Amino acid sequence: MNEKLLEVRNLKKYFEIGKKGLFSKTKSYLKAVDDVSFDVKKGETLGLVGESGCGKSTLVNTILDLITPTFGRVIFDGKDLFSLGKKELRSIRKYIQIVFQDPFWSLNPRMLVKDIVGEPLKVQEKINNFEIMKRVEKLLEMVGLPKDGAYKYPHEFSGGQRQRIAIARALALMPKLIVLDEPTSSIDVFSQAQILELLERLKKKFNLTYIIISHDLSVVSYMADRIAIMYLGKIVEYGDSDTVFNHPMHPYTQALFAAIPDINMENIEDMVTLKGNVPSSINPPKGCRFHTRCIYAKGICSIEEPELIMLEDGRRVGCHMIRQ
Ligand code: SF4
Repeated sequence: MNEKLLEVRNLKKYFEIGKKGLFSKTKSYLKAVDDVSFDVKKGETLGLVGESGCGKSTLVNTILDLITPTFGRVIFDGKDLFSLGKKELRSIRKYIQIVFQDPFWSLNPRMLVKDIVGEPLKVQEKINNFEIMKRVEKLLEMVGLPKDGAYKYPHEFSGGQRQRIAIARALALMPKLIVLDEPTSSIDVFSQAQILELLERLKKKFNLTYIIISHDLSVVSYMADRIAIMYLGKIVEYGDSDTVFNHPMHPYTQALFAAIPDINMENIEDMVTLKGNVPSSINPPKGCRFHTRCIYAKGICSIEEPELIMLEDGRRVGCHMIRQ
């Protein structure tokens, strides 16, 4: 698991939202992703965690080149994605797939399952309908659905089964990286466990690499080998999942984890819960972006932005109070 599959370097995505004032020439930007760097190794699962609006989805959409980045590089399997031409990018993009949060909306209700799952094959592979059908049946089998499900519509399945259809479609082109965007949040608890088991099984079988976005920390702790905690467009803590879950260092990670009562971690009684709302990304607090909500904030925190520093255990943390 040491070979890097994805390298994200100083990635920024700013959305222009107009002028600062009526007569001002200065433009205002919403800094959804601001100077984010991390790696994902082949065969590992990276968990991306943070409150809604922290930039997780924009980060993933920028990596997938679904939205144009403002700055930075994304290197996938040795290729610099933003420097590729359209044709080359399309041939690489098939190795990166996404499974969306709600399969009810992500699957076209007017299409039969065979067409939903077979569509990527039709677009990307030069194979005839008979071969596509054979592959579709195999894919349905892989995700635990009966072959005859191919001739049904998405609404004829339960939420968990619909998510299996979405997974089968994502697997169709044998991707190397699958982004799982809240993959279990819209299905019942029993199906959630089954979907997570399925994803783990498929990962092992096909040596897949996952990025999982979830607000459910139990899902992330079950799936992730490494974890990145995001706050207001920045990564504040990033490291081995067990290490971070057992001993969170950044005050934001501590507060976030403390809000989950059943998570297994040390010193939970020392932890704090979050106060106030997430500030706006249009005008984020100066210095450490978390200082307006941090109970440990000192003078320097509102002046100087902390750098991510690497600790002895290999994790990176961005907080003035943490020294090597
Ligand atoms: Fe809190 Fe200061 Fe650390 Fe930011 S830098 S998390 S405000 S202690």
